[in-house]
Parts: sequence; C-alpha cells; structure tokens
Amino acid sequence: MFHFPKELVLKAAALAVSWAQLCFAQAPKAAPALTADPEITAALQQVSPQRIQANIEKLVSFGTRSTLSAQDPAALASGRGIGAAREWITAEFGRYSKDCGGCLEVKTDSYTQEPAERVKEPTVITNVYAVLKGNDPQNAKRIVLVTGHYDSRNSDNYNVTDDAPGANDDASGTAVSLDCARVLSKLKFPATIIFLTVAGEEQGLYGSQHFAKMARDQGWDLEAVLNNDIVGGDQSAEQDHSVVRVFSEGLPTTATEPDIRRIRVLGGESDSGSRQVARYIADVGRTYDVGVKPMLVFRLDRYLRGGDHSAFNQQGFSAVRFTEFREDFHHQHQNVRMEDGIQYGDLLKFVDYDYVAHVARLNAAALASLAAAPAPPANVHLVTKNLENDSTLTWDASPGGLATEYEVLWRATTSPEWEHSQKVGNVTRTTMKLSKDNVIFAVQAVDRAGHRSLPVVPTPER
Ligand SMILES: [Zn+2]
Repeated sequence: MFHFPKELVLKAAALAVSWAQLCFAQAPKAAPALTADPEITAALQQVSPQRIQANIEKLVSFGTRSTLSAQDPAALASGRGIGAAREWITAEFGRYSKDCGGCLEVKTDSYTQEPAERVKEPTVITNVYAVLKGNDPQNAKRIVLVTGHYDSRNSDNYNVTDDAPGANDDASGTAVSLDCARVLSKLKFPATIIFLTVAGEEQGLYGSQHFAKMARDQGWDLEAVLNNDIVGGDQSAEQDHSVVRVFSEGLPTTATEPDIRRIRVLGGESDSGSRQVARYIADVGRTYDVGVKPMLVFRLDRYLRGGDHSAFNQQGFSAVRFTEFREDFHHQHQNVRMEDGIQYGDLLKFVDYDYVAHVARLNAAALASLAAAPAPPANVHLVTKNLENDSTLTWDASPGGLATEYEVLWRATTSPEWEHSQKVGNVTRTTMKLSKDNVIFAVQAVDRAGHRSLPVVPTPER
C-alpha cells in the first residue's frame, strides 16, 4: 500500500500544494531503479579494450567477410572470406568455454538461403553463438541475448573478392558479443545468456531472421535482445564519444488491430516491450559507471536503415539497437580508396577501441542485470471496474521463485522514463493513491539482493 509521508501531506496542505505537484515535483526525475551488484561491477572491469582491438583486427584480417564470399575448404585454408571468419569466431567462443570449464555451449545455426534480394546463388548462411545456460532450473529457460553481425560488404554487394574490412560495421558489434561472452562466462546467473554473431545482415537481415524465427518456432522465452551494429565510435571530428544511441520501436511490429485500438485509446504508444528494454538500459547506465551514457532514441532505427533487432521485433521479441552517436558514411559499405583527398572504407584506424569497450561494458551490465533478476511478473492488470481516483494493480507472482518483493513504477504520460518507484512488498495486488488517468504504471519483480526484472505495463481489466 502506498502512502505519502505524513510530513509531506501536512506540508502540502499548509502550502496548498496540489496533488499533481506532490506527485510530479517532489521526487527526483528518472532516479536509478537498480541496485549495483558488486560481482557485476567487478566483471565489468574485465572488459578489455586490448582484447576488443585484437578481435576487431582479426576480423578485418579476413579481407572480406561478405556473406557471398567463398567458404569452401580452400577459402578456409587461405584465411580469406566469411567461412574463415566463421571458423575463427567458433574457435574463439570455444576458447572462452575452455577457460570456464566448458560453461559455454558453442553452436551454429546454418541454412541455405535460396536466391532472393541481393543473393543470386543458393548461399549457406551460418550464425555462430555461445550459450551460457542459467544455473537455476526454474529460470534457465529465460534468455537474454546480445548480437552483432560478422559479415561485411564494400560498395558493390556482389563484389566478394576485394577488401571489405567492416571494422566498425560490424566487427565492433561482433567484438561486443565476444567480449561479453569472455567476461560473463566467469559468472553464474539463474537465467540464460546467449552471445550471438550473425551473417547475411548486409543482404537483408537473413541470418537474424532465420535465428529469430527458430527462437519463435521453438517457443523461447527470450526477454531481451541487444543488437550492436556500428559501435566503433568512428573518430570523426563531430563524434560524441560519451554517448551511444539506443533505438527502440514504439508501436510493436506484431501489434494486432485490437492491440492498436487499445494503444490508441490508452496512450500506450511508448510502452512496447522494446521500449521497456531501452529504459532498463538507461537505468543500467545510471547504476554502473561504464564510460558511456545510453541516449534513448524513440524510433525503430535511423532513416533509410535497418538492423538485426527488427528481425527479432518481427517475431514479437523485445529488441533494441546500439549505434555510435554520429556515423561517417565515407567509412561504411565503401571500397577502400582515396578520392579527392578523402579516405573511404571501413578501416581499423577509424575505430576507437576504448569506446567499443565502454559499449561492451554497458551491454554486459544490462545482460548480467537481467540474467540475475527474477522473471517479470505475469498477467499485470490495472483494475478498471469502477470510476475511482485510486489505482489498483494486480499481477501473478514472478514465475521461477526468485522474487521477494515487487515495485510499482510510474511516470507522467508525457515523460520518456520512469520517474517514481514504490516498493509494495511481497504481494500480488496493491492500490496506489494516484489516478490511473494521469500516469503510466508498471510493476517489476525484485529479489533479495535488489536485482530487478524488466517492468511490465498493466493491461486494463474490467
Ligand atoms: Zn551493420
């Protein structure tokens, strides 16, 4: 049960302060809602700019990683092309697994893409991933996932022999998945973390579409997907190395007509699952000092561009995209060349390895926070039977037994982030002295150590 402190109520009465002022002016805006976990803090120190640099250099050394490039035994032996890159990534995950006593299961998801847009010939597309299985039987089926695409391209989609270094796009994102795997595999979590690297992105998200569909068809309980694409912190004059953009869809791609009607009526257009993941990442950025601040962008992606997170959105999963603050288009999808004094090409010299490490820390902190947390509460409802100024919320206990209490969050309908929180105890029903007409609520599960689940926005229940 939520109560305003008595002094505040008396003060409000004395000053004739309105309830609205009391609700929205007294508490700090967007206060961090997470509790820093010392084990996670220590693990973040292990993320290494040197390791990330070595991994990006290795990926660039394959010359081209075009999905359409050779992957026959001769190409693998020559160390050039996507097949050789794939073999190296698989071996690298395997090394991390060896270092943690076989704690990672290294897998591939491979299929033949028939001719389609930007793919002329049947082409084998292989995603490589490592699974850090949760150590709690009741929570191991819950999954959080980080991904980047290891394929690259140059100016011509069908040029599969000239260099396509792809140092930033997207060796940087691949290096984030790899270093998160290396560092987090030293810890144990109740839920499962998957470290994914995909191919076929540059031809049309083929690899991630195949993977996301597999996850949907197999009924995976995939709580959050973090896609890192172009997180190299390109060293151009106007780059801001202190922030990383986090893109998230508003209206869910899979919203049905009834969903959209409800969203329209209730003002739910900024409360997709993906947006809750984005807000959670903002909380993570305030909780752990990772060296870079998430800058939430409330749109699916940049103009004219797409990315692997949308393949997961299309299967109904919550997914966001990390991208550096300012991109330099001379350094993306370009043949390496000098022209009018301008260097074109996605080259190593433009990558800021410290920046990639900061982004990797932010990802690792978000993955660890979610994998350590209880499952979100289920069936969260807002009771709307009666016309009343209080708001009653009900939910089913967080499945999996980790939650020891619950927290109600709320914000003004015009606010981008959660502004207030109130612990309500180990209950499945609470009444807030706030009008549901004026705020947006959510409920999150909290465990004994203070780990918090993703918040869940209630649906109305009459
Ligand atoms: Zn990319």
